Amino acid sequence: MTSLRFTALFESIKRKPVEFSLPTAKVSAVFGSHVFNDRAMKEFLTSEAYEAVLDAIINGSKISREKADQIAAGMKAWATSLGATHYTHWFQPLTGATAEKHDSFFEPTGEGRAIEKFNGGQLVQQEPDASSFPSGGIRNTFEARGYTAWDPTSPAFVMGNTLCIPTVFVSYTGEALDYKTPLLKSMNALDKAATAVCQYFDKNVTKVYSTLGWEQEYFLIDTALYNARPDLVMTGRTLLGHAPAKGQQLEDHYFGSIPERVIKFIQELEFECYKLGIPVRTRHNEVAPSQYELAPIFEESNIAVDHNSLLMDLMDKVARRHNFRVLLHEKPFAGINGSGKHNNWSLATNTGKNLLSPGRTPKSNLMFLTFFVNTIKAVYEYADLLRASIASAQNDHRLGANEAPPAIISVFIGEFLTSVLNELEKVEEGKLSPEQKTELKLNVVGRIPEILLDNTDRNRTSPFAFTGNKFEFRAVGASANCAGPMTVLNTIMAQQLSDFKVEVDKLVDSGMKKDDAIFNVLKKYIITSKPILFEGDGYSEEWVEEAARRGLNNIKTTPHALKAYIDPKAIKLFENQDVMNEREVHARYDIMQEMYFKKIQIESRVLGDMAGNHIVPVAIKYQNTLIENVRSLKLILPENEYNLVAKEQLDMIKEISRRVSTIIALKEEMIETRKVCNKIEDAEERAIAYCEKVLPYFQKIRYEVDKLELLIDDQLWPLPKYRELLFSK
Ligand code: ADP
Ligand code: MG
Repeated sequence: MTSLRFTALFESIKRKPVEFSLPTAKVSAVFGSHVFNDRAMKEFLTSEAYEAVLDAIINGSKISREKADQIAAGMKAWATSLGATHYTHWFQPLTGATAEKHDSFFEPTGEGRAIEKFNGGQLVQQEPDASSFPSGGIRNTFEARGYTAWDPTSPAFVMGNTLCIPTVFVSYTGEALDYKTPLLKSMNALDKAATAVCQYFDKNVTKVYSTLGWEQEYFLIDTALYNARPDLVMTGRTLLGHAPAKGQQLEDHYFGSIPERVIKFIQELEFECYKLGIPVRTRHNEVAPSQYELAPIFEESNIAVDHNSLLMDLMDKVARRHNFRVLLHEKPFAGINGSGKHNNWSLATNTGKNLLSPGRTPKSNLMFLTFFVNTIKAVYEYADLLRASIASAQNDHRLGANEAPPAIISVFIGEFLTSVLNELEKVEEGKLSPEQKTELKLNVVGRIPEILLDNTDRNRTSPFAFTGNKFEFRAVGASANCAGPMTVLNTIMAQQLSDFKVEVDKLVDSGMKKDDAIFNVLKKYIITSKPILFEGDGYSEEWVEEAARRGLNNIKTTPHALKAYIDPKAIKLFENQDVMNEREVHARYDIMQEMYFKKIQIESRVLGDMAGNHIVPVAIKYQNTLIENVRSLKLILPENEYNLVAKEQLDMIKEISRRVSTIIALKEEMIETRKVCNKIEDAEERAIAYCEKVLPYFQKIRYEVDKLELLIDDQLWPLPKYRELLFSK
């Protein structure tokens, strides 16, 4: 019988690119065609209804039931014109995946006929059967109900034959059960605080929002090979597998030509993205074999987050059509680069200004510096919370693994801005003399060039780097929902900016000029936040030591990193900024700890099964062949010759026995340890136990199995090997 591995290999070798022809070459002809955007709203809504949506988007005003009925009617007419037969509230529960519950637009009337139904009520609110989504104890069984509510700030879209309405997901007692609710609240908090600070410089600014441009990394693996690896199927990563002779050391994949099969996949994916208004732009190979990246033009954060979630769904769907599976796991292959999702973040105003982009005049540069320094201060103050926002079982394998930033949060700003901050630090406290002011304005602030984008001055080892007109948060994992880190970033920035305003106003009230006061507070912040600034090699051992000396934390594992969420400082922050209350923070915390140990638990079971039921039997089978061989040699050869000829086989027989018994013993111990851990009630304690007691077995078991992979007849080995997974195209 041919093994699954060889069947899969034959299948993958025979594959041809799946044809996909673009219906039109013009992106503009399809872009947003399936989005209920401004153009569609103008066409399908009464002007009254249109104004109501616009007002809700811009000013957050409520939409009346009557208007909602009108909007629903227009939305349905638009959706059915695109072939939609169903609608769903589309939301992002804390499981990490997106959720949908489809309802038909049509309802049977009983006489073999159907009537259409989709009114304002169905648009605005729905009650999914939500009892199986994680709630961290917020929903008790007697109130096991949550509801979804329309988010008019993110446009509805048609996917397949379904109208999808972006919604938030909250419990009946009002607590957030999803990613979007706190994100929207953090946008609100940021808007208030940043607009108030903008007023120092520009009275026309009445709204500030954060922008996000994500860069999504992923692996593409042939479906047949993927299906022959239980670990990939069940956990998204390989738990076993010896490194191939060739990995990424030749660096021949990065920016290399993209294989035809992959091109077809990317073309179709991009086409699907355009229909849904996702502005994807760049595509190229990544560092590792079979690794790629897709990035869009940045958008307002809420929409960018929705678009990234949608993209992850789309990738999976489209990849299957091309006989690929997409791996979004942060570390699918040991010893080979993992996948991240850089989050490029900035602040924009209603007047079209990027607040992290230097301007032409000293005045606009002071505005830039204000937001720039406040960002640094915010990261300094809440570094641990930012670290927590990117923590996951998957990302633990990637952070600090010489390919991704370490678990130490620091900020890179480049040589030029470092020198500007050094100058500002020298400003004397108190009122500035006219000479000092001129000096500052002309030679320090005035010197900042309008365009700072300089590709040579880039540090790719920093978790949080300024890249000319935005900060790039590089430690985010590929499978993460960007809303987690974006909520934290927006919230800490909101808090920081309100603190800044209080301090400046106080100085102004005591008689200081506004500019002097701003300089004074910025100078103080620069001095305070100095330890967070780091320009050197973030991958180096020296940085780990240096960071420790500076008092920066280096929290390597998720269960410990997550604790920052329930630190009194963080709870106060979330409550102050009206992003989450204490109950919500705790619920979320428990969910994240639970998610962690469940992931490790599943991996541990899969690993035990693979090592025990896939590898050990094969090892014994091969050992029997060797034994057979040795026996025959003994029969036909004289003693002295036999000893010489059979030596290697005998050594191998012994080695196999040794490794097999080690594997079995480790597996049994791991199961026993799991049993002990499973008795722990508290989510945090159980997560820590899984991290510290169960996880260490993975490496030990893998070591033995990977050694066997090198020893055993290739024909017998049951699992597609790394070289096959990564290099067959
Ligand atoms: P890299 O060199 O890290 O691959 P690129 O410069 O190609 O980065 O990508 C930059 C990313 O930053 C893009 O996704 C882009 O949309 C995003 N970006 C650019 N300007 C902003 C901004 N003002 N706010 C948020 N994201 C931005
Ligand atoms: Mg980048």
